[in-house]
Parts: sequence; structure tokens; C-alpha cells
Amino acid sequence: MNDEMLLRRRETVLGPCYFHFFERPLHLVRGEGVWLWDSSGRRYLDCYNNVPSVGHCHPTDVEALSNQAATLNINTRYLHENIIRLGERLVAKLPPALDTCMFVCTGSEANDLAVQMARRFTGRQGCVVTEGAYHGNTHLVLQLSPGSYPQNDRPDWLGVIEAPDSYRGRFRGDNAGSQYAEEASRVIDTMIQKGHPPAAMLVDSIWDAPGPLRAPDHYLDTLCEKMKSVGGLVIADEVQSGYCRLGDHWWGFEHYGVEPDFVTMGKPMGDGHPLAAVITRRQIADVFAKETGYFNTFGGNPVSTAAGNAGLDVIDGEGLLTTVGDSGRYLTEKLKALAERHSCIGAVTGRGLFQGLDLVKDPETKAPFSSHALKRIATLIAEEGVLVGTSGLHGQTIKLRPPLPFKRQHADIASDAVDRALTRYSAER
Ligand code: PMP
Repeated sequence: MNDEMLLRRRETVLGPCYFHFFERPLHLVRGEGVWLWDSSGRRYLDCYNNVPSVGHCHPTDVEALSNQAATLNINTRYLHENIIRLGERLVAKLPPALDTCMFVCTGSEANDLAVQMARRFTGRQGCVVTEGAYHGNTHLVLQLSPGSYPQNDRPDWLGVIEAPDSYRGRFRGDNAGSQYAEEASRVIDTMIQKGHPPAAMLVDSIWDAPGPLRAPDHYLDTLCEKMKSVGGLVIADEVQSGYCRLGDHWWGFEHYGVEPDFVTMGKPMGDGHPLAAVITRRQIADVFAKETGYFNTFGGNPVSTAAGNAGLDVIDGEGLLTTVGDSGRYLTEKLKALAERHSCIGAVTGRGLFQGLDLVKDPETKAPFSSHALKRIATLIAEEGVLVGTSGLHGQTIKLRPPLPFKRQHADIASDAVDRALTRYSAER
């Protein structure tokens, strides 16, 4: 089956909601570690995929998955050690108060469940989210995703706060963190005045969709204190920022010294297998259990949790948290060096192995590149043998977020490819 034919069949059967990353859709057929191969046999360095987070087709993971699939798969109303062991291991990686783990299949389900639990516990409906954020695709969490939900249809109970963007946003300099927190505090006060006090605030501590961003000091801690003072709960959406992605700490929120009431996680948990979870305090789970209860047919099944346990074995066994810290810092340096030579790179944003290049038409005005231009640039980078994604409030940011076993030599390959692609792009203008 040639790629053109496959593309036509895809458009016919899957319809218009699916899109491709690049100008020419890429047909991938094999993966290993940080490498991917397309249908013509060409190899690419993967700088985008955080879901197979311990590397594509890691042998430990493949073995655990296939052994469990060949033994038993069943739902969570039976006793099975895999789910319990994974729950215990995850809880052990979090502050002691976060002691209760509930399994689901996707990040969307995890956030949906956490918001439902927060609403039951507080008896309130209000929710606070960041401008441009994405928290998932259920009806509830799509409403909580200002980057994807129509602005004119935002619910009354939603408070949208500014993204703490120290490059492109309103506030910069030493006081930016406090200024963003003050602005957010005003939004929360307005919600209360309008009769919609917040049940919860969702925070993605890499601010992926409007970023990636590294928030200024005193932002998140001040904001979390504010939520606490008005009786609202904090949901750390660690779907992107958790699982060592940012280096130095297991979870993104730890970089800001805050302690959330919920941690939701997904993408990297099952190394490509659908597996996600909500971890919260027992007191909150008790209220939910009494009022509604919860069942999820697939969430935490023995095969998914075999993958989940294998992933933790690899991350801890191969010391990937340390790898990410080292290669993340190295990648940042390489990208900053690139920014010295390409004036279209307005800022290098992000942290660890989650980096962004905010592209500007003019460094003075910071006029953003269009998402159309970014598709062209991502295509050129792919032609240079490296796969990246795009992000940002205007779709102006190149996103690099490789599997965790990404080393310094891979950072060299990635930055050289971006360098060549940007040179080619400016020659095309
Ligand atoms: N939260 C964040 C921060 C995300 O980036 C995403 C997915 N991109 C989700 C939640 C939803 O996860 P899923 O696609 O697994 O439902």
C-alpha cells in the first residue's frame, strides 16, 4: 500500500478532524529508543514523542506487556497485584498526604475525574484555568481548555487567568511572578463576587499549550496560597510535566515548591499504552465514594499496569531523571546558542526535555510567526532528519519534547538540524 493511497483512505474513513504534523504526512513504521523509521526506510531522531517516554519499544516494556497479555487481562473489580503495586509506587513518589490512587485510561479522564471530585468535595462548580491551556477532550475538560474551546461559549463558572509568560506576556522582570499572581487573584475574586467560587484550579506546570513556559518566581506558590485561602483545591495536571520530563524532580509542580490536592497523570505512564491516574487525599476520595462511586472498565487493567510498572522499572533502573537533568540543560545551551545566530528565535522557553523556540518575525515587536510558517519549518526540520512539534498561543513555537533517554549527542543532532532548517527557511523567503 503506497502512502498516497493510505492517505486517501485515511481522509475517507477518519474525516476532517484529524490533521497531520507536516506538509507531507509521515508514515512511520518502526521505532527503537529515540529513533523512528518511515515507510521508505529513512531514520529520524524523535524530538517530539513523550508518550513512549522510556524510548520506543523498550525491551523491558515489551516483555512485560506481552507476558501479561499472554497470561490474563481483566477489569479492576477483581484482585490483581499489578494495579496495587503501581498505585503504591506512584503514591510513594508524591507528598505523604496524596495517598489515594484511582486509575483511568487517558489524561482527559484523569482531569475530568479530578474536577468532579473537587466539585463534590467543595460543593462548588467554579474552575480556574490558564489562557490557552489544554486539559483534555471530555465535555467537562474541553470547557476547561480555553485553547481549544470557543471563547464565546465559555461557561459562567470558568475563570481564565493569563499564562505566566515572561517573554511574550504582559509582565516581565523581577516582579513578574507576583504581578501575574495578583492578576489571577483578581480573576478569582471576580468569580466569587459573581457567585461562582472556585472548586478547583488546574495547573499544567510546563504550560504546554500556551508555552512551553517556565513561570517566574513567586507565581505558582502565591497563586496556590490564594486558592487555599478561598477554599478551592489545586489540581496539578502532570500529564505533560510529570514523570521526570522537566529534569531534577519527578513532577513539574515540585519545581515551584507547591503541594497540590490532586495530581493527574497520563501520557508517559504506560509507555504508549493508554494508562492514566488521579492521586488525591483520602478525605476527598471518601466524599466521592459516598456520593457517586467510580468504575472504569479499562483503567488500571493488568496489561496496562504491567506496562506502567515496567516504565517505572526503566526510569529508576536507568537513572533517567539524572539523564533528563543533564541533557535538558545541554539542549537548552545548544538552543540558546542557535538563538544567537538566528534572529527569528525570540526566546528559548521551557525546561528539561521540554523546550520551545518562540519564533518572531521581528525581535523588536515580537510579532509571532504564523502557524502556517511553523508547519513549513517543522517540515524542513523533518527533512533534516529530526521530528519536532509546534505549540504556543499563536502556534508560533517549535516544541522539542523527546523520549527521556535523549542524550547530549542527540541534542547536537537536533540543534544542527534546526539550524540547517532555519537557514533553508530564510533562503526561501
Ligand atoms: N492535560 C494536558 C496538559 C495535556 O497536554 C493533555 C493532552 N495533550 C491532556 C491533559 C489530555 O490527555 P489525553 O490526550 O490522554 O486525554
